[in-house]
Amino acid sequence: MAATGAGAGKASPRRPPTVEERRKVRFDERGPSAGAAASALQLAMLAPPGPVDVQRYTIDLKVIPSLTRLEGTVRIQARVVSAGLATLDVGLYDNMAIVSILKGATPLGFARTANMIHITLDRAYATGEMLDFSISYAGTPAATGFGAFTFRTHGPTAQPIISSLSEDVYAPVWWPCIDRPDDKAIVDMNLNVPSSLTGVSNGTLAATINNPDGTKTFQWRSAYPISTYLVSVAVSNYATFGSTYTPVTGGAPMPVQHWVYPEHLAAAQVDLSVTVPQLTFFSGLFGEYPFVNEKYGHAIFPFGGGMEHQTATSYGSNLIKGTNQYDWIVAHELAHQWWGDSVTLGDWKQTWLNEGFASYSEALWWEHLYGAAGLQTYMTSFDSRPFCGTLADPGTCDTFGHTVYDKGAWVLHMLRHVVGDTAFFQGLRNYAFDYAYSNATTPDFKAVMESTSGLALTSFFNRWVYQQGEPSYRWGWTAASTPAGWVTHVRIEQTQPGAPFEMPIDLRVVTGAASATTTVWNTAVNQDFALPPTASAPTSVQLDPQGWVLKSAITMTLSDGDADGVPDSADNCPAGFNPAQEDLDGDMLGDACDPDIDGDQRPNGSDCAPADPSAQDPPTEVTGLQVSGGAVCSLVWDPDPAQGAGLLFEVLRVDASSLVPNAGVGSAGCRELGLDVPLFAEVSQPSAGDAFCFLVRKRNACGPGSLGLGSDGSQRTSTACP
Ligand SMILES: [Zn+2]
Repeated sequence: MAATGAGAGKASPRRPPTVEERRKVRFDERGPSAGAAASALQLAMLAPPGPVDVQRYTIDLKVIPSLTRLEGTVRIQARVVSAGLATLDVGLYDNMAIVSILKGATPLGFARTANMIHITLDRAYATGEMLDFSISYAGTPAATGFGAFTFRTHGPTAQPIISSLSEDVYAPVWWPCIDRPDDKAIVDMNLNVPSSLTGVSNGTLAATINNPDGTKTFQWRSAYPISTYLVSVAVSNYATFGSTYTPVTGGAPMPVQHWVYPEHLAAAQVDLSVTVPQLTFFSGLFGEYPFVNEKYGHAIFPFGGGMEHQTATSYGSNLIKGTNQYDWIVAHELAHQWWGDSVTLGDWKQTWLNEGFASYSEALWWEHLYGAAGLQTYMTSFDSRPFCGTLADPGTCDTFGHTVYDKGAWVLHMLRHVVGDTAFFQGLRNYAFDYAYSNATTPDFKAVMESTSGLALTSFFNRWVYQQGEPSYRWGWTAASTPAGWVTHVRIEQTQPGAPFEMPIDLRVVTGAASATTTVWNTAVNQDFALPPTASAPTSVQLDPQGWVLKSAITMTLSDGDADGVPDSADNCPAGFNPAQEDLDGDMLGDACDPDIDGDQRPNGSDCAPADPSAQDPPTEVTGLQVSGGAVCSLVWDPDPAQGAGLLFEVLRVDASSLVPNAGVGSAGCRELGLDVPLFAEVSQPSAGDAFCFLVRKRNACGPGSLGLGSDGSQRTSTACP
């Protein structure tokens, strides 16, 4: 029983799950998200605001394993939001038969399409009025979702296991409800099962009633509001065991209870023993367990992973090994009680607010056990690039794909380094407190972290949450001996597509046995940093040695042509070619020495592109242009030798008939005759008697963009850059 609790110390780290193991647990039994199966009407129902605000569901549910059948009545008490509400849509899959819909003793009319019940109310209701009606129904739940409701068996004697997993939009598979995560309500669950079985649900068990018909009713009560997707049942011939959790904020001990297959009892007692230490740890870190007046525990069900049902996580039977192998899943589902159950995502686009947070909580538990090195190792298990879509909206990518789990965890890890540990964990506690028992969005979380840290985080969230990609760093270093000591110069370039990432980057300078770490703010695609002096010459430099940034990084050798230890423009500018320096535009001058014509801080091949209008102006080198008719003409300019051999000029012969007197070079009065040659020497000479002028302009050596219109009105283009 290795390292199952707080205080296990900093033993050599056990291995975190690999990317593949994590993926297998998540998807083995559920496959990719079946979210597309939700009807258009269901999805339309999710648009805010809802027509009503449900206050309470009272669910009477009879589970009949021998018939794989449910018989239920759900009473819905809701406050009206939409003025003049005369009809109401309630979700329930079409295959479930409706026995009656009653308001008091009065039947309400209804129609059914697309897994929705369209109920005609007895009258129009004003905003703020209460609706109170009951739906009785029966049937065998459809096989859909991630196993929204299943009748199965387990063990050598094929005992029944009946369980639900409604995430994300499958609660109406087995009970009628307004199925939106932002309409939380109080739920009473009266769960009727054969007397040989135990029925587990959310909240506190208020009573167990033995019925004369050979069934038992388990009356579960929740005082905390709950989202419909977190309402659950799990029914089997469970063996049960438990202990108590002592709240970190004081107060009465809370029951921690587990319902497991009898054949798994011994192994489950090992595996689930980590629950209470994790409750203590997370409560200390995030604020008290949100449902401390009720319970926490697990009910085993036939699934590859776990599901964070409020106060009663459903835990996959395959995870019971008796080896603590899946402590990380216990941690994940427990952390969801804060991140998902108490603070619930505002809508299903924002699953990273649930899954990214629960996943990072796994890493925090690992850090608690194994320290900084354990945390760093664990984070590498979340590097499942490439990531699809953005965190803010996975779009066509899987709502429950690895992006929202793994990149979500990484974004929190990076945010922690941006704002610092103190502000990060205080921010998490503030977020958990401010949005407890409610719903939150990405902007809500950003606002809390900004107010807690005092930092503007728009750039961070925009780049990491609302856009795709990660930084690709190319970096190198040199060192110069100065009177103050050795100054290490580091150049960091970002070569990924899109906008630069603005991130703090740790640079560790190693000098023999000693080292010093400096955090620099890298905010541009090409940036130089001079680090604080060290007493002796650096032997190596490490970029982000503790792995705080999700990135790619390669090193480069910086040129130091003048051997002063400082990689600067003096090294090989203006004329000396340094083969160690990148030369994208092939002008035999390192790019660092090239002009940055387009102002993108990247002196590179694109600077020769004529997108820059200034490149189309008459060259400053032209000092004079003399035009005369007849056979004599002359063209005088003063080419700047510093511009180098790569500079070409374009000379046009122009009809002088429309020349505006004294308009000079580039006059709009010139009409091009279409003689367009790259070099002055190739201009054909005019015939005697011609009237003409010459235009000379700087020709772009290469690159995309416009060179203006030719005499025939068509676009003139430059050649492609090498
Ligand atoms: Zn999760």
